[in-house]
Amino acid sequence: MAPTEPTQTYHCDIAIIGGGIAGLWLLNRLVNAGYNAVLFEQTALGSDQTVASQGMIHGGIKYTLGGTLTGASEAIADMPDHWRACLSGNGDVDLRGAATLSDCFYLWSSNSALSRMSTFLASKATRGRVNKVGKKDRPALFQHPEFSGSLYQLVDMVLDVPSVVKALAENCPERIFKIDWTQASWQRMPNQSVAIDFLHNAQYYRLAPRQVVLTAGQGNDALLKELGISSPQMQRRPLQQVMIRHNQPHRFYGHCLGAETTPRLTISSHPCADGSQVWYLGGTLAEKGAHQTADELIDCAKRELADLMPWLDLSGARWATLPVDRAEPRQRNFARPDKAFASRAEGCGNVIVAWPTKLTLSPNLADEVMALLKKMETTPSGSAIPELDFLERPPLAPTPWQTAFGD
Ligand SMILES: Cc1cc2nc3c(=O)[nH]c(=O)nc-3n(C[C@H](O)[C@H](O)[C@H](O)COP(=O)(O)OP(=O)(O)OC[C@H]3O[C@@H](n4cnc5c(N)ncnc54)[C@H](O)[C@@H]3O)c2cc1C
Repeated sequence: MAPTEPTQTYHCDIAIIGGGIAGLWLLNRLVNAGYNAVLFEQTALGSDQTVASQGMIHGGIKYTLGGTLTGASEAIADMPDHWRACLSGNGDVDLRGAATLSDCFYLWSSNSALSRMSTFLASKATRGRVNKVGKKDRPALFQHPEFSGSLYQLVDMVLDVPSVVKALAENCPERIFKIDWTQASWQRMPNQSVAIDFLHNAQYYRLAPRQVVLTAGQGNDALLKELGISSPQMQRRPLQQVMIRHNQPHRFYGHCLGAETTPRLTISSHPCADGSQVWYLGGTLAEKGAHQTADELIDCAKRELADLMPWLDLSGARWATLPVDRAEPRQRNFARPDKAFASRAEGCGNVIVAWPTKLTLSPNLADEVMALLKKMETTPSGSAIPELDFLERPPLAPTPWQTAFGD
């Protein structure tokens, strides 16, 4: 229970709640635009979805697998270029400290989906964005004589997500705090705005931000309930990814096209500290396997790989799964959102709620929030960083494979 008057009240322009890719990217954008912004993370930076993602920065080609352009495919078409500019130090956020795992992504077809592949390649959406890969240029995994299909290269790229999180955090470490909600609480102000009270040494310190942005991923759900906000609302899309730790030399990044309009299997490869690597499997396998037991899903994954790459020997590999939810703004008919979402909360004067819906769309989310701030005439105030140094700093989240296999 907070006292009526805190010992000290601090001010800032924007308080961001949640230090995944959305919150960290937004913090960087706001600070670069001159805002006095701070971020609060309850566990570790990049927890939940961000470090669990496959790191693909895509231009939406995978949404055109049905052969037609959709809202989703158009909204993110220029995202890879946006990220590339940031990676080279010429964008609106400095990502020079982040590592790229692959600057292209492959697409191949199972035999049962050859006609779908032809429809896809004939569609306008793929022009200039998909190139056939000649036999000698194929990645090592597809040099095997048993591979008889065709392989295509997409302009999408894959980033080492932990290094992206680290780079974004290191750009403004003095503005990132760990929040312990047993020692912090929301306060409703008479004008219906919200503030946060921190308990420290039996004293209350209040942070009264001009705007609060909730970028807590699935954590937004509980925050919305706690603040009594009925709109917007959240939906979850459950997945169960498969992780294979092995010593095969093949690093591979690609989608296998199957009978459906989403990839049958998506493979990304992630380095481990001891030189081994983890293949991280998503796509339809992870969507359909969301409610299977780990053993059932691992059996399915083994069958899929034996069917698609019978020449691959994964004996001696270690297997694990990761159940994880995608958090998205609630859509009619549970549809997939087309682009990043940011909206003012109903009944809370200074709260914005945001979900990027894709790692790729984080720049788009920052644009949306900046546009809302402009509309509300919230301009940079020139105030100082609030003196909250009694709070700890959050660590970086471990990857799911570090957690599953140890390092
Ligand atoms: C398996 C998987 C693979 C994916 N692959 C890709 C991909 O290849 N490409 C792509 O573009 N997208 C991908 N995505 C989607 C992408 O990962 C997410 O859209 C994105 O990471 C969401 O970021 P976020 O910051 O909104 O949420 P999160 O990453 O979930 O971060 C939320 C943060 O908020 C913190 N938090 C929660 N509650 C509170 C609270 N009350 N107070 C303070 N902090 C709080 C959490 O600890 C966490 O650090 C994938 C998603 C999944 C699940």
